[in-house]
Order: sequence, then structure tokens, then C-alpha cells
Amino acid sequence: MSATPDTIIGIDLGTTYSLVAVPGPGGPRVLRDANGDARVPSVVTLREVAGAGIQAEVGWAARGGIVRTAGATVHSVKRLIGRSMADVQAELPFLAYPVRSGPRDTLQVELVGRAFTPQELSAFVLRALRERATQALGHDVRRAVITVPAYFDDVQRQATRQAAELAGLEVARIINEPTAAALAYGIGLRTAGRGRPHTAVVYDLGGGTFDVSILRIEGDVFEVLATAGDTHLGGDDFDLLLMRRLASADATASALDAADPLIRAALREAAEAAKVRLSDADATDVELRLPGSGVLQMRVSRAELEALCNPLVDRTLAHCDAALRDADLTTADLDEVVLVGGSTRMPLVRRRVEQHFGRRPYTALNPDEVVALGAAMQAAVLSGGSSDLLLLDVTPLSLGIETMGGAVGKLILRNTTIPCRAVENFTTFVDGQTAILVSVLQGERELAADCRELARFELRGIPPMPAGIPKVEVEFLIDANGILNVSARELRSGRSAGVQVLPTRGLTDDEVRQIVAEGDRHARTDALAHRLIDLCNQVDFDTQKAVQMLDRHGDRLVPAERARIEREMSSLRSLAADARRDPQSVDPDALHRALTDFGHGTLRLAEIGIQAALADATK
Ligand code: ADP
Ligand code: MG
Repeated sequence: MSATPDTIIGIDLGTTYSLVAVPGPGGPRVLRDANGDARVPSVVTLREVAGAGIQAEVGWAARGGIVRTAGATVHSVKRLIGRSMADVQAELPFLAYPVRSGPRDTLQVELVGRAFTPQELSAFVLRALRERATQALGHDVRRAVITVPAYFDDVQRQATRQAAELAGLEVARIINEPTAAALAYGIGLRTAGRGRPHTAVVYDLGGGTFDVSILRIEGDVFEVLATAGDTHLGGDDFDLLLMRRLASADATASALDAADPLIRAALREAAEAAKVRLSDADATDVELRLPGSGVLQMRVSRAELEALCNPLVDRTLAHCDAALRDADLTTADLDEVVLVGGSTRMPLVRRRVEQHFGRRPYTALNPDEVVALGAAMQAAVLSGGSSDLLLLDVTPLSLGIETMGGAVGKLILRNTTIPCRAVENFTTFVDGQTAILVSVLQGERELAADCRELARFELRGIPPMPAGIPKVEVEFLIDANGILNVSARELRSGRSAGVQVLPTRGLTDDEVRQIVAEGDRHARTDALAHRLIDLCNQVDFDTQKAVQMLDRHGDRLVPAERARIEREMSSLRSLAADARRDPQSVDPDALHRALTDFGHGTLRLAEIGIQAALADATK
């Protein structure tokens, strides 16, 4: 049976990599590119094309060009979504693009002369994933299960939902990444005939975030007992430490401080590549040409990297202990430790986790793909394909209201099973008062100033009464997505008080509608023709770049490689020429594939160009 047109897809929207998986009769499967890779780098390059508006390139091609297209390329947008300037201060030096404050404490990224919200930028990645699913399924896709770090707060979840909306996807459900991983893991157990009750800890260390969840799996019931984590702790931070180390080992420290995005991007790439190599090798050489200081050359050992990263691994283990405490368990109660996320490939992480829990971690699942697979399993449940699965998730953070004197009155405690509901009554302090301002807070601290304000609610239209007489009931409802809904009523008069929700950060509904409407206007133009035009423009752009680089640096390639690039370039150009002459004659997918292959095939040339450009920058 082929998938029906109402297929819900599963999306792992990662800081570094994103993946899409689809439910199928034989279980979910991740969708791969022509090279067999399921990972789509969460990197976007934008270009303003006359007549066609903004064009986005997403994935490997965009990632390969981070340095080349500085000022037009973004990465790690997940670190910005639903956040404010104050939240992201510490990592600004790490981002290869400028970030500034937008309205209502939001963030904006300026690219190609325009300001984009993190939601819009995430939407480009989501659109690319949706497109991949559409290709694979052969029909349009409108609904998705999207995973977020368990520790994402309400604003970050809302913002993720908005990003999906902008990409034309209705969010069927938001689920937590470690819970998705546990779903995939639990199903794996069942298939392996090990279906007895299990308590598992899922340790997920990715590029930008760390999440830990403790799960109880009993038959078809998946119950999250506790979750903890840090939305700002991951492989990117290891890269940052190594970057600083590289920079300080050389006279390039000043170059790094100069905050030149090109240098930062180049250093960051070198650091990440070295880190990944050190998962297999005991030592590795880093060589990078930097303006002003010649060539940066350094040998880094695994021991050195481990010494740098160890304190961060300590922090992950402290979160594990906190989650265990919340679940009222000790390491002895655990049946399995499941590793998820690219950074768990580091021997240091494996070793420390093994020591900490006193058992070898379970690594049979591909740590990159397990979250997307779990999302697709949940998607199958929601589309009614497999109904024998019950997922009981928890809310990661306590929710409350600011009370007199700046204290916090908690309504819902962290690790409460969702969906859940709590009610609190308010009254007035002044005779005849007709409105109350309520600040909704999320966090574990006791003072309002130390928690995160999610929203302010103004309860208006309270009939004038003496102080203390009105009884305003505020209801908090956390839905299955982990998203908070609020309603309020004045009970004595029986009238509903008007509730106005002013999200502290994020887009207003009107703004979302407006951006979507803009997108729709574009969508109405003939989609196929539009896509071909885009692709042809891209061919022009990429081949011109390649010609320039061949002229300048072609002599540094072996003749066979140069000949191959020239051959591929001419066939790509003739394909584009055909498409322009007769749009019916060319399959846009084939053109897209050829373009992507060309991008892969010229990576080395691009690298040589980058080194040269960096060297030139000194002159
Ligand atoms: P996210 O879910 O945040 O997108 P992933 O789970 O895909 O992240 O993990 C990406 C991170 O894993 C990156 O920081 C990357 O450098 C790191 N990573 C991937 N492979 C390795 C490896 N072999 N050794 C060390 N780190 C790795
Ligand atoms: Mg991930």
C-alpha cells in the first residue's frame, strides 16, 4: 500500500542537522539524498534574485559555502528561535552572521540586505524537508510531527510552530526529542523480542542542545518520568572551545576578536572538522591560512580536546542526576542508557557516560536518525496508522504566576505528565479595580526576576466591586504539544474577563498571517516554471563562480579533476539551456540533482578559493 495523501511526516529540526522520516507499512524510514545521507545541514544561503524574490539554498550546498557566502548564510538558527538578545549574548561571537534585536525583544538576522526572524530562517529548512518528503511520497505534504528539545520553553515551542506554518506545514504534534528517540528505541526492543518493562535514560547530546529523559516503557505505553537538560550545551560549544584554543595558540587571537565573519567561519569549520577527526584519531593537524598571520598550523591531541570539553560533559551528567532524582530513581534502577546525537560519537562522552551509569550504553540505533524515526512513529499514530501506542510526556519546566513582592506562585510543577491543567484564583487590591495584570512565568527559581516571563495577561472587564471581592479564575492548560493555553473568568459576576495575551517574544498572529500570505502570493505563480527558473539562475551563478575559481586557482588541481569539473559544468549548462528553451523537456528534480552533484564536485576548488580569499584579505 502506498502512502495516502494525508500522510503526516516526522521532522527532526536540529541545530546542526535536520532530517525527515515518513511512516510506512514496514515501519518508518528516513528519507535520504542521492548520496544515501539522511542529514540535511540546517544551513541556509539566501540570494535576492531580480523578479523572483528571495531564493534559498539549504543543506550541504549551503554548508559548503558558509565561508564563501558570508553575509548571506545562516547556521544554528535553532539557538536563536524564541530567544531574546539577553539569552544569546554569550554565543554571538560564535555565529558567522550578525544578530540584532527586533521588536518585542525578538531577534533578527540581517541577510542580503533584509531582516529575517529566526522563524523565517527555520522555515527555509522546513520547506526543504517538506520538499524532500513530497518528492519521495509523490504527493504534497501538509502536516508534520516536529521534535524539539525537551527543555524548550513555551516561547521556543510556539516559535517552532510558527516556523512550520511559514513553511506551509501544520504541526500535528510537537514532541520532545528524547521522547521520540525512546519511541524508536522501545519499538526496536519490541521487535527484538525484549518487550518486558524497561526503564531507560536517553542521553541526547547534539550540536546545540543537551537533553536527558528517563522513560518507563511497558508494552505500548511510553511514560516519561522526568526530563532535564540545557538548550545551550552541545557540540557547537566544543567547537567554540577548540576555536579559542586554536586562536590563542597563534597570533590570530586578535583576528578572532576582530570579529571578521569570514575568519570566524573558517576557524569554526576547522575546529569542528578537527573535533570530528579526534573521535577516531589520537591527534590531528589543523592547518588554516589566516590574514595577518600567515598559516595557522597546529597539532591537537585528543587528550587536549578532552581536557577542554570535560567540564561541559560534567554539566550533562549533573543534569542526568537531576532527572534521576526527579524520577525518584538511582542509576541501579536503569535497564538501559540510550545515546542520541552526533556528539555522543566522542569517545570522551561514551566513556564518561559509561562510568557514570556503570553500564555500557546502547548504541545499536544510528544516533543521527533515531529522533526522526521516532517522530515518524508518532506521525503514524496520529494518522491512525498504528494506534497501539500511548505516549505520556511531561512538561520540562514549572509554570507559575508572579505574586505580591516579586515571588513566584507555581501552578504546574516540572515533570508533570501532559496534557495537564491547573487553576488559580485572583482578586483585586483596590476598590473598583476592573483589570488585573498577570505575569506568567516559567522556571524553577523562586523569584520572578529569575524566571522567564512567557506572557503578560491583562484580565479586563471585571465589574467594579470592593477590593478582594471579585474572583477571577485563571486556567493554565498544557496541551499534548507542551504548549500553554490560558483562559480566565470572573466567577462572581459570571462574566468572562477579557484575556489579552502579549507574547513576550515571538511573532503576533497577524505577523504570521502576513508572512504566510506573502508566501502564498508567490506560490500562486506557476510553481513548476518558477522552480525551473530558480534552478537555471542557480546554475548560472554556480557555474560563473566555478569558472572564476578555475581561472584563478585551476592550476592547483590535478588535470583530471579540472577536466571533470569542466565536463560537469558544460553538461549542467546545456541542461539549463534546454530548460530555458523548452521547460517541458527538463525534469526539475534531475536538474536539482545535477546542481547538487556539481556543488559536491567543486568543494575542493571552493576550499582552495577560500584559502586564497583569506590570504588576499591581508593585502
Ligand atoms: P543537532 O540535533 O543539534 O542538530 P546532531 O545530533 O546532528 O545535532 O549532532 C551534531 C553535532 O555532532 C555537531 O556538533 C557535530 O560536530 C557533532 N558530531 C558529529 N559527528 C561527530 C563525531 N564523529 N565526533 C564528534 N562530534 C561529532
Ligand atoms: Mg538532534
